[in-house]
Amino acid sequence: MKAEIIAVGNEVVMGNTINTNAGYIAKQLQTMGIMPKYHTAICDEPEAIKSAMDIALKRAEVVILTGGLGPTKDDLTKEVICEHLNKPLEMNQEAQEALEAYFKSINRIMSENNKKQALFPKDAYILTNNHGTAPGCILEYNGTPVVLLPGPPKEMQPMFNDFVIPYFKKLMTIYYETIDVKLFGIGESIMAERISDLLGEFEWGTVAPYISGYEVIVRIIAKGFTKTEAKQRAQAHKNKVETRLREYVIGYNEDKLEEQVLECLKKHDYTVSTVESCTGGLLAGRLVNCSGISAYFEQGMVTYSNEAKTKLVGVKAETLASVGAVSPETAKEMAEGVKRVTGADIGLSTTGVAGPTGGSKEKPVGLVYIGLALPDQTYVHELRLKGTRTQVREKTVKTVLYELYKLLK
Ligand code: ATP
Ligand code: MG
Repeated sequence: MKAEIIAVGNEVVMGNTINTNAGYIAKQLQTMGIMPKYHTAICDEPEAIKSAMDIALKRAEVVILTGGLGPTKDDLTKEVICEHLNKPLEMNQEAQEALEAYFKSINRIMSENNKKQALFPKDAYILTNNHGTAPGCILEYNGTPVVLLPGPPKEMQPMFNDFVIPYFKKLMTIYYETIDVKLFGIGESIMAERISDLLGEFEWGTVAPYISGYEVIVRIIAKGFTKTEAKQRAQAHKNKVETRLREYVIGYNEDKLEEQVLECLKKHDYTVSTVESCTGGLLAGRLVNCSGISAYFEQGMVTYSNEAKTKLVGVKAETLASVGAVSPETAKEMAEGVKRVTGADIGLSTTGVAGPTGGSKEKPVGLVYIGLALPDQTYVHELRLKGTRTQVREKTVKTVLYELYKLLK
């Protein structure tokens, strides 16, 4: 929300009074998320007041005027503004009584002149002046709040604090923007270390981590008085988080890893084939989740037995006999084999001990090898996973997709 502050008063324009009101109001506005954009100072002249008002209404969403609310003839802010905005003045009972009470409290007779200070448009929200005679008011013109305040700082400041701030706080809806930055392949504690200074509350929101499935998520929630403001704040924090954790980012909000992978395949125009042992088709199933994969997914095989590994993708019998099915060598031969026999650009393989039985001292449950045969190079990773059979298989699939995403990104 943009605000314009207009100081009305010859003494301000002539330089006899320094415009401290604008400075004070500008600071206060910012604490509420209202951005001061323009300071204007004009003489106590109807034409100047009208044209300043017209300009402000065009470029600001909140207009605040100070000065010229006094009882004398030269104080004409309220009269000119109300006439210009087509808001006729009428005697306001409440304001009149407050004025009478004020004069009584200081033991003085109220002059005829002062009566004009109790004149307000019907729909005005009146701001009581507990430190002087001139009440202020808030008008609404085509949805823009127009605030009229007295000139003397000792009157203006308490009025602003006691009535204007609560008025805006109530008026303004708070918007929220949430961005989840999804990370994979990094533990929560290392993540927290890297962004420790960003975690927690900031002035307009929070940054907090949580775990979802196998992903670490950094959730950014930002607030603002407009959607744009909330979005900008969330975006700024997202950028900071991303800069520190870039290599682990696998997407945002509802992004799915397999969809990110598909985007990368499209970008490189690569096709992919899979050959799975311990995941038994789960990897192919995950890829096929994506609509639009058909042009990029060549073939998916499940080679559970050693014979199938040899027969379908050409894993050497010697390899299986010497190092076994769960080995980096087998994972490599599987990935390269499926790439070769299906003619895809990329071959992906999984082989491991999903458990809960079948583990041994050298090859415990959770030991998995994955192979990624890319056009120019083959990568093999050893995983040591924990959890149930399902968890080991799912985490394997996720890791293959993540490693592929990293290589293609
Ligand atoms: P009053 O009832 O005192 O006449 P008013 O609303 O008519 O209130 P002005 O006559 O415009 O206020 O100003 C009164 C005094 O307030 C000025 O002489 C000046 O000292 C101070 N003042 C006015 N405008 C400002 C300003 N923008 N910044 C700081 N002080 C101001
Ligand atoms: Mg005055």
